This record gives sequence, structure tokens and C-alpha cells, in this order.
Amino acid sequence: MKNYSGKRILVTGGAGFLGSHLCERLLNDKHEVLCIDNFYTGRRSNIAHLLTNPRFEVLRHDICFPLYVEVDEIYNLACPASPIHYQFDPVQTTKTSVHGAINMLGLAKRLKAKILQASTSEVYGDPTVHPQLETYWGNVNPVGLRACYDEGKRCAETLFFDYHRQHKLRIKVARIFNTFGPRMHPNDGRVVSNFIMQALRGDDITVYGDGSQTRSFCYVDDMIEGFLKLMESPDKFTGPVNLGNPTELSILRLAKKIIDITGAKSKIIFQPLPQDDPKQRQPDISLAKEKLNWKPRNNIEDGLKKTIAYFKDL
Ligand code: NAD
Ligand code: UDP
Repeated sequence: MKNYSGKRILVTGGAGFLGSHLCERLLNDKHEVLCIDNFYTGRRSNIAHLLTNPRFEVLRHDICFPLYVEVDEIYNLACPASPIHYQFDPVQTTKTSVHGAINMLGLAKRLKAKILQASTSEVYGDPTVHPQLETYWGNVNPVGLRACYDEGKRCAETLFFDYHRQHKLRIKVARIFNTFGPRMHPNDGRVVSNFIMQALRGDDITVYGDGSQTRSFCYVDDMIEGFLKLMESPDKFTGPVNLGNPTELSILRLAKKIIDITGAKSKIIFQPLPQDDPKQRQPDISLAKEKLNWKPRNNIEDGLKKTIAYFKDL
């Protein structure tokens, strides 16, 4: 029997970077949270501070296998997100995206629960349309090194919409653009954590290619707010909806910003650009503004300062 006012909420990938912030926020909002994770890229330390909360529970489980629990809502975040991690075992990445989605959708169907999918700007691939709108179908290489992630996430979106049409499931699909903040894995190879760790150690900053490729970086607190607003939006709004910060930055400028803020003596070195690395990426967030009344509030400098403070403490 429930003896609290909140909902029972399942967060898959809850020990990861975004998942741990989401669990924390849901607990603060007085919900009961069941965190599922196989600890592939997630860490116990991300959720250690939540373990004493009686409304928090952790289960080691791989979403590629069926799960039988009772919840009111599901946030499906389980999947490695850094290119190094998702390319390490690409078959497992596709399984997590596709089998994992089927299992979580099956669970949502049985429970008649609302389910939110953490999709990605990677569904747009190396975009030929800029900035990216939800109506753009993308430019993805289906056989490249990034395909396990990009195509896995695209197939997951297909499954979400087919469950919605076929089984009337209440779905929410968020297309997440590059997000950063405390609790990113220091060695996960993503650009923000790489540059900050290199700057703090006084190592060379490794810019891939000539650094002219762009990304748009969103601070984690804004992203979590976006997830909650999307989950709470009327059932008829399914998305897909872009969530991200439209402030676009070249990777070279990001490197210089991090050097400035840390006061590091590091020099910038240039290394080969990985295969299929998207040249530009910027979300058009008009739909999120209109339907969710959401836009990011933190600027990149403030977010970087908080993230740098976290990495310094490690
Ligand atoms: P993360 O790697 O920190 O977290 C992913 C979590 O999922 C980890 O805790 C990992 O152990 C867990 N996991 C992986 N495979 C699993 C499986 N089969 N079963 C159970 N748990 C599993 O990554 P993140 O940045 O927190 O990303 C979370 C979600 O958001 C991912 O689905 C990712 O694709 C999506 N996303 C993130 C970003 C970003 O910039 N952070 C951008 C786009 C999309
Ligand atoms: N990148 C870089 N140096 C690094 C790590 C990444 O120049 O040490 C570049 C990478 O090539 C890409 C961008 O930074 O153009 C963002 O990479 P990340 O892996 O963070 O995420 P992506 O958006 O490519 O999935």
C-alpha cells in the first residue's frame, strides 16, 4: 500500500549521468523511484546519496531481458551515450535500444503506464538541414560506426510510435541534444568531460578535426526540467520533441572557453576526426517552447563552472 502522495516511477539507466539527476529530482518531488541499471556505464557513486531515502530502490537488471514490476510511469534512459562506450560493444548497444525498448513498452502496455523515451539528436545523423526541426528525417549512415546507436535509437522511436498507434500506449519521445553537467563519467570520452579533465590535469586538449564542427550544449538541470514537463504534458502530445540549448558553439571555441575558465596552461592539439562525426548540430526548440512552455535557463559558462567544480572535487 502506498503511504505517500507521489507516483511510483521507474527510471531505467538511473545510475547514469542523466538518470541519477532524474531520480534525485523525482525523489525531491515526493515520488517513489525504482532505479534499474546494469551498471555498464552507470556508477553506484552517482546514486549513493539517494540510497538512504525510503522512497528509493535500486535493482541491477539489464533491460534486454523482461522486467516484471508495478509502476505508474516509466522513463527509459538505459543506453550508453558516449561514442566510445556505445561503440565498445555495438551489438549490445543495438540490443539495449531495440530489445530494451520492446521490453519497456511491453511493461508499459501491461501496466497502462505512461512511458518516455530518451531519444537523441543522433536520429538526425550528420544533418543537411540546420538547425534541426522535428520534421527533418535525418541523414544517417546505416552501416557506419555510429549506426548501432543512431539506428538503434531510430528503431526505438519506430517501436514507440507503433505501440502508440497499435496499442494506444501513452508515449513521450524526447530528442535530447548534447547535455553536460556534474556526474558525467570523467573517462567517458565525451567532449565536455574530456576537455575539463585534460585542462584540470594540464594535459593537451584533444580537438578532433579542425574543431569547426559545432554542437549545442545544454546544462543537465534544464534537461531534467524538460523531461518532467514532457511527461506531464497532455496525452495527445507524444513528441518527438527536441530538448536542448540552441546556443551553438564550435568545438574549438568550447576548448578555448574551458581553458579560460579553468586558467589551464594546456595547449590545443588536433587529432583525426572520427568517422561520421556530425559537422553541425543545433536544436530548433520552437515545439518545446510552444507545447511544454520549456526553454533552458542556464547559460553554458555557468554550467561549465559548476561542472568544473564537480570534476575538481573528484
Ligand atoms: P550514461 O551512459 O551516463 O547512462 C546510461 C545508463 O544506462 C548507465 O547507467 C548504464 O549503466 C545504463 N545501461 C546501459 N545499458 C543498459 C541495459 N542494457 N540495461 C540497464 N541499464 C543499462 O548516459 P547518459 O548521458 O545519462 O544518457 C542517458 C540517456 O539519454 C541515454 O539513453 C542516451 O542515449 C540519452 N541521451 C543522452 C545525451 C547526453 O548528452 N547526455 C544526448 C542524447 C541522448
Ligand atoms: N571531440 C573532440 N575532442 C574530444 C572528444 C570529442 O574534439 O576529446 C569532438 C567530437 O569529434 C565531436 C564533438 O567533440 O565533434 C562532440 O563529441 P561527443 O563525443 O561529446 O558527442 P557527439 O555529439 O559527437 O555524440
